[in-house]
Amino acid sequence: MGLRREWCVTCVSPAVTRVNTDKDILLYLYMPAATTNTCLFCQQPITKGRSDKKFCHAGCKDAYYNALKSEEQQEISNIDLVLKRNRRILKKLFRPERENLVHKEALLRAGFDFGFHTHFLVTRYKRNQYCFCYDFGYREVGPGTYKVIKRF
Ligand SMILES: [Zn+2]
Repeated sequence: MGLRREWCVTCVSPAVTRVNTDKDILLYLYMPAATTNTCLFCQQPITKGRSDKKFCHAGCKDAYYNALKSEEQQEISNIDLVLKRNRRILKKLFRPERENLVHKEALLRAGFDFGFHTHFLVTRYKRNQYCFCYDFGYREVGPGTYKVIKRF
């Protein structure tokens, strides 16, 4: 048995010709040419089906999209954790009896992350803009002092 590299006579792509001298049978093993797609999941060359096929097998397709989904889900849940922690802190520091004023230091000490919020709301009369984490909002009313409100 010997291996010899040459061009495939039908598709003119590089091929390896395996010559079985015992039974005198020629087997053409096609090398992955530049145009051959590889499976997005297992990286194996796709030998069957349409030329734009992305997966070698339905199982690979499922596994690929499941992995993609769980990666995306992980990113989303990381953000959710920060948002929920922010809300918990605002809820804890929300004290109507103290006019809901909170110092920036207290927020930061509790682990508040100013980089994450869900939305903004502007009050109807005074046009004050509050930054919200779900149902709790805040805005700076003085240097390092924030007013916390609960959405009514
Ligand atoms: Zn595959």
